Amino acid sequence: MTKTIVFILKSLWQMLRLIFWLLAAALRLTVGLVWRQTLGRSTVYVRRDWDDRGVGRVRWSDLHSPRWDTVSGGAQVENPLPLLHAYVWCDKVRGKIGHSCAYGPGPHNIKICMLRDDNSRRIWGRLLEIAGPDRRLADQGLTE
Ligand SMILES: [Zn+2]
Repeated sequence: MTKTIVFILKSLWQMLRLIFWLLAAALRLTVGLVWRQTLGRSTVYVRRDWDDRGVGRVRWSDLHSPRWDTVSGGAQVENPLPLLHAYVWCDKVRGKIGHSCAYGPGPHNIKICMLRDDNSRRIWGRLLEIAGPDRRLADQGLTE
């Protein structure tokens, strides 16, 4: 009799564990998917160069290979401090930035830079995850 009860309890316990495991897996999958979708749709604010007054808006999913770099796109100005740059097709940029499609038939793959002050903390944090920690701080010896 007790053996039967132990068997039933054990089976129940294993079933519960299976249900929990499935629930956790489903949750991870849906939350991950929703997170990726909202991130893909979120707006990143970009400039042609750090002193470009025009700020453009780009979808996260249209940004390519963000990284720290001292050379800007366009005029190829060398900056004293590395800035976060990325590539984007110019027809994906909404708003006016320092790019005219005068170089020939577009769209053009242009290099743009992103400033921390222009962007939300969430976007900035995600950019740092890909490009690596803020090199401006590292160069000044102010590591966090
Ligand atoms: Zn263009």
